[in-house]
Amino acid sequence: MNKLLILVVEDDPAIRNLMATTLKSHNYRFVTAPTGASAIMQASTAQPDVMLLDLGLPDMDGVDIIRKIRTWSQMPIIVISARAEDTDKIDALDAGADDYLTKPFSVEELLARLRATQRRLQFMQTSTPSPIFSNGQLKIDYAAGCAWLGEQQLHLTPMEYKLLCVMAQNVGKVLTLSFITQKVWGSTTESDIASLRVFMATLRKKLSAGKEDTQYIQTHIGVGYRMLKVE
Ligand code: CA
Repeated sequence: MNKLLILVVEDDPAIRNLMATTLKSHNYRFVTAPTGASAIMQASTAQPDVMLLDLGLPDMDGVDIIRKIRTWSQMPIIVISARAEDTDKIDALDAGADDYLTKPFSVEELLARLRATQRRLQFMQTSTPSPIFSNGQLKIDYAAGCAWLGEQQLHLTPMEYKLLCVMAQNVGKVLTLSFITQKVWGSTTESDIASLRVFMATLRKKLSAGKEDTQYIQTHIGVGYRMLKVE
């Protein structure tokens, strides 16, 4: 299998070396960048498939790097943050990052994120524009405006259906609470976020009604939700 080319952006040489060694030993191809400026340069010249981006760089704000790269590339960006504050991750996700890792992270966590990203890339590359979305047992017929779990049609309220569509259209990505409420309600007030939690709870209940105990929607406490790409 053609392994991904990964751009590792990290200013701390010890962490950069650890990541490089891990990627090498798992047959990933990679290039590294120690600064924001070199990250943007590598992103445009090396044409990586995935970017691992440390948010705390000496020369540039990580969020600005994401915004810049998103002007020409949709490659998955996994941000790495040492800061415990959720606001950094949320800003990065809202700027267009796909996923995040919090330092300190284990080698297994890093590899798991890369495998998930690879599944998502394959899904994006092989799926032609279609009115039918399919993920595991879940199917959405956008043209008909309804959803199934296996053979069973899901009885969703219009709001639950809209929410499911937003999650499906961004499968594999961590979506922030404000991104989702903006898409579903067109605003991001405290009460929209409270409503989102309620609608998400009922939607998840309906999605877990199948025979298999597949988890379709993952909660990121204080950050948001993600629809997992089920194998
Ligand atoms: Ca750093």
